Amino acid sequence: MNIKAEDLVYGRWPDILTAAGMDARFFNQRNGPCPFCGGTDRFRWSKKNGGLWVCNQCTGGSYANGFRMLMEHMGYHSFREAADHVRSYFGAGEHIQAIAREARVAKGNDLSPEQEQRNLRRIERFWDEAREITSGDPVHRYLRNRVPGLDVQPQMLRFHPALEYWAPPEKEGGKPVSLGKFPAMLALAKDAKGDVVQLHKTFLTMDGQKADVPIAKKTDYGLGINSFAIRMMEPVGDTLGVCEGIETGLAATMLRRVPVWPCLNGPAMAQFELPFELKAQIRRLVIFADHDERKRAGVVDGVQKYRRPGSFYAEQLAQRIRKEGVRVLVIKAASEGQDMANQWAAQYEREHSH
Ligand SMILES: [Zn+2]
Repeated sequence: MNIKAEDLVYGRWPDILTAAGMDARFFNQRNGPCPFCGGTDRFRWSKKNGGLWVCNQCTGGSYANGFRMLMEHMGYHSFREAADHVRSYFGAGEHIQAIAREARVAKGNDLSPEQEQRNLRRIERFWDEAREITSGDPVHRYLRNRVPGLDVQPQMLRFHPALEYWAPPEKEGGKPVSLGKFPAMLALAKDAKGDVVQLHKTFLTMDGQKADVPIAKKTDYGLGINSFAIRMMEPVGDTLGVCEGIETGLAATMLRRVPVWPCLNGPAMAQFELPFELKAQIRRLVIFADHDERKRAGVVDGVQKYRRPGSFYAEQLAQRIRKEGVRVLVIKAASEGQDMANQWAAQYEREHSH
Protein backbone atom coordinates (compact mmCIF):
# COMPACT_ATOMS: atom_id res chain seq x y z
CA MET A 1 0.00 0.00 0.00
CA ASN A 2 1.32 3.36 -1.05
CA ILE A 3 1.20 6.07 1.61
CA LYS A 4 1.97 9.63 0.58
CA ALA A 5 4.04 11.98 2.71
CA GLU A 6 0.99 14.29 2.95
CA ASP A 7 -0.90 11.50 4.68
CA LEU A 8 1.62 11.38 7.52
CA VAL A 9 2.39 14.93 8.55
CA TYR A 10 -0.79 16.19 10.18
CA GLY A 11 0.15 17.52 13.63
CA ARG A 12 3.66 16.07 13.33
CA TRP A 13 5.57 19.02 11.90
CA PRO A 14 7.22 20.21 15.14
CA ASP A 15 8.69 16.69 15.54
CA ILE A 16 9.81 16.48 11.93
CA LEU A 17 11.31 19.96 11.86
CA THR A 18 13.10 19.79 15.20
CA ALA A 19 14.56 16.43 14.15
CA ALA A 20 15.84 18.25 11.06
CA GLY A 21 17.68 20.68 13.34
CA MET A 22 15.18 23.50 13.89
CA ASP A 23 14.98 25.01 17.36
CA ALA A 24 11.87 23.90 19.32
CA ARG A 25 11.17 27.50 20.37
CA PHE A 26 9.83 28.23 16.87
CA PHE A 27 6.82 26.02 17.60
CA ASN A 28 5.60 27.70 20.80
CA GLN A 29 2.74 29.41 18.85
CA ARG A 30 3.74 32.91 19.91
CA ASN A 31 4.99 35.68 17.68
CA GLY A 32 8.76 35.74 17.52
CA PRO A 33 11.77 36.05 15.22
CA CYS A 34 11.56 34.17 11.92
CA PRO A 35 13.99 31.24 11.56
CA PHE A 36 14.72 32.37 8.00
CA CYS A 37 14.69 36.17 7.99
CA GLY A 38 15.02 37.15 11.65
CA GLY A 39 13.19 40.20 13.01
CA THR A 40 11.52 40.20 16.40
CA ASP A 41 7.86 39.20 16.06
CA ARG A 42 7.12 38.54 12.40
CA PHE A 43 6.89 34.74 12.67
CA ARG A 44 4.34 32.47 14.25
CA TRP A 45 3.60 28.76 14.27
CA SER A 46 -0.03 27.66 14.31
CA LYS A 47 -1.58 24.26 14.89
CA LYS A 48 -4.21 25.02 12.25
CA ASN A 49 -4.52 22.56 9.37
CA GLY A 50 -2.19 20.21 11.17
CA GLY A 51 0.62 22.79 11.30
CA LEU A 52 1.13 26.08 9.46
CA TRP A 53 3.58 28.95 9.72
CA VAL A 54 3.30 32.57 8.83
CA CYS A 55 6.02 35.19 8.44
CA ASN A 56 5.21 38.77 7.56
CA GLN A 57 8.19 38.73 5.19
CA CYS A 58 8.85 35.15 3.97
CA THR A 59 5.20 34.26 3.37
CA GLY A 60 3.86 37.81 3.10
CA GLY A 61 1.52 37.21 6.02
CA SER A 62 -0.17 34.17 4.40
CA TYR A 63 -0.08 30.76 6.01
CA ALA A 64 2.31 28.24 4.49
CA ASN A 65 2.55 24.54 5.27
CA GLY A 66 5.24 22.44 6.89
CA PHE A 67 6.59 21.16 3.58
CA ARG A 68 7.39 24.74 2.63
CA MET A 69 9.11 25.27 5.97
CA LEU A 70 11.14 22.09 5.56
CA MET A 71 12.16 23.24 2.08
CA GLU A 72 13.23 26.63 3.44
CA HIS A 73 15.18 25.05 6.25
CA MET A 74 16.91 22.34 4.24
CA GLY A 75 17.37 24.33 1.05
CA TYR A 76 15.31 21.85 -0.97
CA HIS A 77 14.27 22.98 -4.41
CA SER A 78 11.27 20.73 -4.88
CA PHE A 79 8.34 19.42 -2.93
CA ARG A 80 9.54 15.91 -3.78
CA GLU A 81 12.76 16.35 -1.81
CA ALA A 82 10.73 17.47 1.19
CA ALA A 83 8.32 14.56 0.75
CA ASP A 84 11.23 12.11 0.59
CA HIS A 85 12.65 13.65 3.73
CA VAL A 86 9.32 13.14 5.53
CA ARG A 87 9.02 9.53 4.37
CA SER A 88 12.52 8.72 5.56
CA TYR A 89 11.81 10.45 8.89
CA PHE A 90 8.93 8.07 9.54
CA GLY A 91 10.75 5.08 8.10
CA ALA A 92 9.13 2.12 6.41
CA GLY A 93 7.24 -0.81 7.91
CA GLU A 94 3.96 -1.59 9.63
CA HIS A 95 3.79 1.41 11.97
CA ILE A 96 3.48 3.81 9.04
CA GLN A 97 -0.11 2.60 8.47
CA ALA A 98 -0.93 3.51 12.07
CA ILE A 99 0.58 6.98 11.69
CA ALA A 100 -1.43 7.60 8.54
CA ARG A 101 -4.61 6.47 10.32
CA GLU A 102 -3.88 8.77 13.27
CA ALA A 103 -3.31 11.67 10.90
CA ARG A 104 -6.62 10.98 9.11
CA VAL A 105 -8.53 11.07 12.39
CA ALA A 106 -6.84 14.31 13.49
CA LYS A 107 -7.52 15.85 10.10
CA GLY A 108 -11.25 15.28 10.60
CA ASN A 109 -11.16 18.45 12.76
CA ASP A 110 -9.75 20.54 9.92
CA LEU A 111 -11.06 23.71 8.22
CA SER A 112 -14.63 22.65 7.54
CA PRO A 113 -16.79 23.71 4.58
CA GLU A 114 -18.67 25.91 7.09
CA GLN A 115 -15.46 27.67 8.11
CA GLU A 116 -14.57 28.14 4.46
CA GLN A 117 -17.98 29.71 3.89
CA ARG A 118 -17.51 31.96 6.93
CA ASN A 119 -14.11 33.13 5.64
CA LEU A 120 -15.53 33.79 2.19
CA ARG A 121 -18.46 35.79 3.59
CA ARG A 122 -16.00 37.81 5.68
CA ILE A 123 -13.90 38.60 2.60
CA GLU A 124 -17.03 39.59 0.66
CA ARG A 125 -18.24 41.79 3.50
CA PHE A 126 -14.97 43.76 3.65
CA TRP A 127 -14.98 44.03 -0.14
CA ASP A 128 -18.59 45.32 -0.20
CA GLU A 129 -17.81 47.91 2.48
CA ALA A 130 -15.02 49.26 0.26
CA ARG A 131 -15.43 51.45 -2.81
CA GLU A 132 -13.76 52.16 -6.10
CA ILE A 133 -10.55 54.18 -5.87
CA THR A 134 -11.09 57.85 -6.71
CA SER A 135 -8.66 60.69 -7.23
CA GLY A 136 -7.28 62.02 -3.93
CA ASP A 137 -8.49 59.23 -1.64
CA PRO A 138 -5.87 57.57 0.62
CA VAL A 139 -5.36 54.59 -1.71
CA HIS A 140 -4.93 56.83 -4.73
CA ARG A 141 -2.40 58.91 -2.78
CA TYR A 142 -0.59 55.83 -1.50
CA LEU A 143 -0.22 54.32 -4.96
CA ARG A 144 0.95 57.64 -6.42
CA ASN A 145 3.51 57.91 -3.61
CA ARG A 146 4.82 54.43 -4.24
CA VAL A 147 4.57 54.49 -8.03
CA PRO A 148 5.15 58.07 -9.24
CA GLY A 149 3.49 58.96 -12.54
CA LEU A 150 1.13 56.00 -12.29
CA ASP A 151 -1.30 56.25 -15.20
CA VAL A 152 -3.15 52.93 -15.14
CA GLN A 153 -6.41 52.13 -13.33
CA PRO A 154 -5.85 48.87 -11.49
CA GLN A 155 -8.81 46.53 -11.06
CA MET A 156 -9.39 44.36 -7.99
CA LEU A 157 -8.15 47.14 -5.70
CA ARG A 158 -10.52 49.16 -3.53
CA PHE A 159 -10.50 51.81 -0.83
CA HIS A 160 -11.94 50.89 2.58
CA PRO A 161 -12.62 54.08 4.60
CA ALA A 162 -12.37 52.57 8.10
CA LEU A 163 -10.96 49.08 8.49
CA GLU A 164 -10.40 47.81 12.01
CA TYR A 165 -6.88 46.71 12.85
CA TRP A 166 -6.72 43.68 15.12
CA ALA A 167 -3.43 42.85 16.80
CA PRO A 168 -3.00 39.15 17.58
CA PRO A 169 -3.29 38.03 21.20
CA GLU A 170 -0.10 37.65 23.19
CA LYS A 171 -0.71 33.94 23.74
CA GLU A 172 -2.51 31.18 21.87
CA GLY A 173 -6.09 31.21 23.14
CA GLY A 174 -6.04 34.91 24.14
CA LYS A 175 -8.22 37.63 22.60
CA PRO A 176 -7.14 39.87 19.70
CA VAL A 177 -6.82 43.58 20.52
CA SER A 178 -8.24 46.37 18.32
CA LEU A 179 -5.82 49.21 17.56
CA GLY A 180 -8.51 51.35 15.93
CA LYS A 181 -9.89 51.95 12.43
CA PHE A 182 -7.80 53.04 9.47
CA PRO A 183 -8.23 53.83 5.79
CA ALA A 184 -7.06 50.77 3.87
CA MET A 185 -6.33 49.42 0.43
CA LEU A 186 -8.03 46.10 -0.22
CA ALA A 187 -6.90 43.69 -2.93
CA LEU A 188 -8.99 40.71 -3.98
CA ALA A 189 -7.15 37.59 -5.12
CA LYS A 190 -8.61 34.81 -7.26
CA ASP A 191 -7.41 31.32 -8.03
CA ALA A 192 -6.96 29.96 -11.56
CA LYS A 193 -10.65 29.02 -11.72
CA GLY A 194 -11.62 32.64 -11.02
CA ASP A 195 -12.94 32.01 -7.51
CA VAL A 196 -12.21 34.55 -4.77
CA VAL A 197 -9.80 32.92 -2.32
CA GLN A 198 -7.86 35.66 -0.54
CA LEU A 199 -8.09 39.28 0.59
CA HIS A 200 -5.06 41.48 1.17
CA LYS A 201 -5.17 44.64 3.28
CA THR A 202 -2.77 47.57 3.45
CA PHE A 203 -3.50 49.91 6.37
CA LEU A 204 -2.93 53.58 5.51
CA THR A 205 -3.04 57.13 6.81
CA MET A 206 -5.36 59.75 5.27
CA ASP A 207 -2.45 61.24 3.33
CA GLY A 208 -1.47 57.95 1.75
CA GLN A 209 1.38 56.67 3.92
CA LYS A 210 1.52 53.26 5.55
CA ALA A 211 -0.33 53.38 8.88
CA ASP A 212 1.69 53.19 12.07
CA VAL A 213 0.57 49.66 13.02
CA PRO A 214 2.70 46.58 13.76
CA ILE A 215 2.02 44.98 10.35
CA ALA A 216 0.67 47.44 7.76
CA LYS A 217 0.20 44.73 5.12
CA LYS A 218 -1.92 41.76 6.07
CA THR A 219 -3.55 38.81 4.43
CA ASP A 220 -7.03 37.95 5.70
CA TYR A 221 -8.27 34.44 6.51
CA GLY A 222 -8.34 32.78 3.11
CA LEU A 223 -9.86 29.60 1.76
CA GLY A 224 -6.74 27.48 2.13
CA ILE A 225 -5.77 27.85 -1.55
CA ASN A 226 -2.07 28.58 -2.12
CA SER A 227 -2.17 29.62 -5.77
CA PHE A 228 -3.78 32.99 -6.50
CA ALA A 229 -3.24 36.40 -8.08
CA ILE A 230 -4.66 39.91 -8.09
CA ARG A 231 -5.98 40.32 -11.62
CA MET A 232 -5.17 44.02 -11.74
CA MET A 233 -5.23 44.34 -15.50
CA GLU A 234 -6.93 42.58 -18.38
CA PRO A 235 -4.33 40.92 -20.61
CA VAL A 236 -4.82 42.21 -24.16
CA GLY A 237 -1.86 40.69 -26.03
CA ASP A 238 -0.02 37.41 -25.62
CA THR A 239 2.07 38.59 -22.63
CA LEU A 240 1.27 38.55 -18.93
CA GLY A 241 3.54 39.60 -16.07
CA VAL A 242 3.50 38.26 -12.51
CA CYS A 243 5.28 39.46 -9.38
CA GLU A 244 4.99 39.38 -5.60
CA GLY A 245 3.83 42.82 -4.39
CA ILE A 246 1.01 45.08 -5.59
CA GLU A 247 3.24 48.17 -5.82
CA THR A 248 5.90 46.12 -7.60
CA GLY A 249 3.28 45.05 -10.13
CA LEU A 250 2.17 48.59 -10.88
CA ALA A 251 5.78 49.76 -11.18
CA ALA A 252 6.58 46.84 -13.49
CA THR A 253 3.65 47.88 -15.69
CA MET A 254 5.06 51.42 -15.87
CA LEU A 255 8.54 50.09 -16.74
CA ARG A 256 7.56 47.47 -19.31
CA ARG A 257 4.01 48.35 -20.39
CA VAL A 258 2.67 44.85 -19.82
CA PRO A 259 -0.28 43.83 -17.62
CA VAL A 260 1.05 42.44 -14.33
CA TRP A 261 -0.71 40.30 -11.74
CA PRO A 262 0.73 40.38 -8.21
CA CYS A 263 0.62 37.09 -6.27
CA LEU A 264 1.21 38.78 -2.87
CA ASN A 265 4.10 36.57 -1.76
CA GLY A 266 6.88 34.36 -3.09
CA PRO A 267 5.36 30.95 -2.36
CA ALA A 268 2.07 31.95 -4.03
CA MET A 269 3.98 33.30 -7.04
CA ALA A 270 5.91 30.02 -7.29
CA GLN A 271 2.54 28.24 -7.51
CA PHE A 272 0.90 30.63 -9.97
CA GLU A 273 -1.24 28.98 -12.65
CA LEU A 274 -2.60 30.57 -15.80
CA PRO A 275 -6.40 30.63 -15.83
CA PHE A 276 -7.80 28.09 -18.23
CA GLU A 277 -9.43 30.73 -20.45
CA LEU A 278 -6.05 32.45 -20.97
CA LYS A 279 -4.02 29.37 -21.81
CA ALA A 280 -4.49 29.78 -25.55
CA GLN A 281 -3.89 33.54 -25.43
CA ILE A 282 -0.85 33.96 -23.17
CA ARG A 283 2.32 32.73 -24.89
CA ARG A 284 4.82 34.68 -22.80
CA LEU A 285 5.07 35.10 -19.03
CA VAL A 286 7.28 37.82 -17.59
CA ILE A 287 8.27 37.13 -13.98
CA PHE A 288 9.34 40.26 -12.13
CA ALA A 289 11.56 38.95 -9.33
CA ASP A 290 12.51 40.87 -6.21
CA HIS A 291 16.28 41.09 -5.77
CA ASP A 292 16.43 39.84 -2.19
CA GLU A 293 19.47 39.56 0.01
CA ARG A 294 20.93 36.11 0.50
CA LYS A 295 19.15 34.14 3.21
CA ARG A 296 20.28 31.04 5.08
CA ALA A 297 18.69 28.00 3.49
CA GLY A 298 19.48 25.09 5.75
CA VAL A 299 22.55 22.92 6.18
CA VAL A 300 23.21 20.20 3.63
CA ASP A 301 26.02 17.70 4.30
CA GLY A 302 27.46 20.01 6.92
CA VAL A 303 27.57 23.01 4.58
CA GLN A 304 25.44 26.10 5.20
CA LYS A 305 23.42 26.86 2.06
CA TYR A 306 22.20 30.29 1.03
CA ARG A 307 19.78 31.58 -1.55
CA ARG A 308 17.84 34.65 -2.61
CA PRO A 309 14.10 33.97 -1.98
CA GLY A 310 12.83 36.20 -4.83
CA SER A 311 14.98 34.42 -7.39
CA PHE A 312 14.20 31.02 -5.89
CA TYR A 313 10.44 31.42 -6.26
CA ALA A 314 10.79 32.99 -9.71
CA GLU A 315 12.87 30.04 -10.89
CA GLN A 316 10.37 27.51 -9.52
CA LEU A 317 7.58 29.20 -11.45
CA ALA A 318 9.70 29.60 -14.60
CA GLN A 319 10.57 25.89 -14.72
CA ARG A 320 6.95 24.78 -14.35
CA ILE A 321 5.44 27.25 -16.82
CA ARG A 322 8.09 26.50 -19.46
CA LYS A 323 6.98 22.87 -19.38
CA GLU A 324 3.53 24.11 -20.45
CA GLY A 325 5.11 25.52 -23.60
CA VAL A 326 4.92 29.18 -22.51
CA ARG A 327 7.99 31.35 -23.05
CA VAL A 328 9.30 32.78 -19.79
CA LEU A 329 11.34 35.87 -19.14
CA VAL A 330 12.62 36.58 -15.61
CA ILE A 331 13.41 40.21 -14.88
CA LYS A 332 15.18 40.97 -11.64
CA ALA A 333 15.67 44.41 -10.11
CA ALA A 334 19.19 45.71 -10.79
CA SER A 335 20.61 45.76 -7.28
CA GLU A 336 20.26 43.82 -4.06
CA GLY A 337 17.42 44.78 -1.75
CA GLN A 338 15.56 46.42 -4.65
CA ASP A 339 12.30 45.64 -6.38
CA MET A 340 10.61 47.10 -9.46
CA ALA A 341 8.98 49.84 -7.37
CA ASN A 342 12.39 51.18 -6.26
CA GLN A 343 13.71 50.85 -9.78
CA TRP A 344 10.77 52.65 -11.36
CA ALA A 345 10.86 55.44 -8.74
CA ALA A 346 14.58 55.99 -9.45
CA GLN A 347 14.02 56.07 -13.20
CA TYR A 348 11.07 58.44 -12.86
CA GLU A 349 13.11 60.78 -10.69
CA ARG A 350 15.98 60.81 -13.21
CA GLU A 351 13.57 61.64 -16.04
CA HIS A 352 11.76 64.36 -14.12
CA SER A 353 14.59 65.99 -12.17
CA HIS A 354 15.30 68.63 -14.83
ZN1 LIG B 1 10.70 35.15 7.56
